[in-house]
Amino acid sequence: MKAFAYARPSTTDEAIATFSSSSGAKFLGGGTNLIDLMKMGVEQPSTLIDITRLPLATIEEHAGGIRIGAMVRNSTVAEHPLVRDRYPVLSQAILAGASPQLRNMATIGGNLMQRTRCSYFYDPTYAHCNKRLPGSGCDAIDGYNRMHAILGASDQCIATNPGDMAVALMALDARIQVLGPQGPRSRLAGDFFRLPGDTPNIDTNLRPGELITAVDLPPIDWATGGHYLKVRDRNSYAFALISVAAVVGLDSNGSIRRAQLALGGVAHMPWRVPDAERVLIGQTPGDGAFRDVAEALLKGAKPYAHNRFKVELVRRSIARALEAASTRA
Ligand SMILES: Cc1cc2nc3c(=O)[nH]c(=O)nc-3n(C[C@H](O)[C@H](O)[C@H](O)COP(=O)(O)OP(=O)(O)OC[C@H]3O[C@@H](n4cnc5c(N)ncnc54)[C@H](O)[C@@H]3O)c2cc1C
Ligand code: SF4
Repeated sequence: MKAFAYARPSTTDEAIATFSSSSGAKFLGGGTNLIDLMKMGVEQPSTLIDITRLPLATIEEHAGGIRIGAMVRNSTVAEHPLVRDRYPVLSQAILAGASPQLRNMATIGGNLMQRTRCSYFYDPTYAHCNKRLPGSGCDAIDGYNRMHAILGASDQCIATNPGDMAVALMALDARIQVLGPQGPRSRLAGDFFRLPGDTPNIDTNLRPGELITAVDLPPIDWATGGHYLKVRDRNSYAFALISVAAVVGLDSNGSIRRAQLALGGVAHMPWRVPDAERVLIGQTPGDGAFRDVAEALLKGAKPYAHNRFKVELVRRSIARALEAASTRA
């Protein structure tokens, strides 16, 4: 690991000023992803700006929904009564990720910014990775690509976003609050993440030097009908092959009034297609409706040599997740 400077600001303004004054700096949350990448030589920050002491560690009611500070640890969010009762899909998604020890360390901001688990990206002995080394090529496209994308990929990168929480935030239309040298701004989760295109080295639309300060969950009273399904190789401590975050609201006659769903493990960002969700409105929950929405979500899917199974797995996972969410609605 390369030597680096360490700073521990106590205010957000100080954190942003420290970032601006040190070229090659990185914010440090729980360190559960960044430190691993530094050990592998993938990340080589000049300065680590430890933001864990910033006053951004509260969960409170806000504008009819909930505001979660960026420094709140994953376990705290998952177990918080406001989250568990009103947004169970978020609680389930966080608890499906990593291990209890990691969740105790990982912060909300750091979780949103975690990098892909493409093994060619993680291992600098592989020479071709456009995400790690722009312009070098992509060893995954003709390599072992079982965990990779089937939607929204480019000829530059077929990596997936590995997060669970992000999939639930996408389904819930969460808003990410950020503070940067130009002041505060916010983005919907759908505008926060990005597809790889020809700049796969850039994971999100966060600008350099911007700090995530909070995540806002909107006031959707029907989010109590929510379910997170994660399909993985082992039942714990494994990243998703496919995941589905589904939120469903039913009318008094049992037909679907509202539905929002996002997929994990299929693209460079959590995958959501609002037009596909409209297919469900007014339908009775059941195989026919679930199959229609799955086909709409899978439009344009392009599997690679080792991940063809994901297409059928998406169909089945969507049906299971929507069935569970409808039962709870
Ligand atoms: C063995 C293992 C298994 C795992 N399994 C899963 C899993 O199944 N599902 C899952 O979702 N995750 C999984 N993870 C990933 C884990 O969730 C992330 O490592 C964690 O959420 C990152 O949070 P952190 O606070 O530790 O971030 P850090 O490692 O501190 O930071 C990660 C990145 O975020 C940036 N950053 C941190 N905070 C901010 C902020 N407020 N504003 C702007 N940038 C910021 C940092 O600069 C860095 O680039 C696993 C990790 C490990 C090691
Ligand atoms: S899929 Fe993306 S992250 Fe993986 S090797 Fe290719 S360019 Fe790198």
